[in-house]
Amino acid sequence: MIQSIIVFLFILGLTVGSFLNVVAYRSVHGGSIVSGSSKCPHCKHTLRALDLIPIASFLLLRGQCRYCHKKISVRYPLVEAASGLLFLYVGYHWYVVAGSFILSFDSIFYLIFLLFIVSVLLALFITDLVDGLLPNVITLPAIGVAALYKIYLVVFGSITIVGLGVDLLVAFLMAAIFFGLVYFSGERALGGGDVKLAFLIGLFVGWPSILVGLFIGFLTGGLASVMLLLIGKKRFGDTVPLGPFLTIGALSALFWGPQILEFYVKSML
Ligand SMILES: [Zn+2]
Repeated sequence: MIQSIIVFLFILGLTVGSFLNVVAYRSVHGGSIVSGSSKCPHCKHTLRALDLIPIASFLLLRGQCRYCHKKISVRYPLVEAASGLLFLYVGYHWYVVAGSFILSFDSIFYLIFLLFIVSVLLALFITDLVDGLLPNVITLPAIGVAALYKIYLVVFGSITIVGLGVDLLVAFLMAAIFFGLVYFSGERALGGGDVKLAFLIGLFVGWPSILVGLFIGFLTGGLASVMLLLIGKKRFGDTVPLGPFLTIGALSALFWGPQILEFYVKSML
């Protein structure tokens, strides 16, 4: 049973990844996210179902558009693969770590919420890395969904109202920290999008896992900046967007927050 669920989630993830490519592109460059057919960005030829099979189409077409033979960015199959693997891991986490493989409404809602959050984070990872933007059209609805899910948890007794209050406090603190960073640092690579992303992450990660999220976010961001300096891709004083690293921190906190904290506390003693 669980094997078939995980295989299903992997295939679902590949398909969602293909959709996330569209979301990431259109949320920055315009166009309706939910309707309209996909077109080649070069020749604008409408793509058919056969051109849109996750990963397989890219491989069969050897990375070229079927119509104009211009190169297709390797980003598209990479995002599809990442999404497939993330969905697969969410299935595993849901089954083993969260131990909620009882087909109740609560556990199914939890699974759907995890898949939703992972998709949002992946979409924002792409938009910030590729275009340096964290579009409101993604962050604001995601904050709405996360808030609704938390309210559902309170109404059905999975968390207390105090627990929700703490999560909200964490969210506002995160937003305040990033507002401060944007305001006082004058960093070109930081903006209002980071404040909203920080709020979203604070809300769904909550206390104390948010500490792991922040730590991993700043650590990976710092390491990546140093690497880019060393290989000469960036010069000192150039900016690197923080959003992609915040999403990596958020995913780590979501999947391994309690374990990483426990490891840290134990190694301190
Ligand atoms: Zn083309």
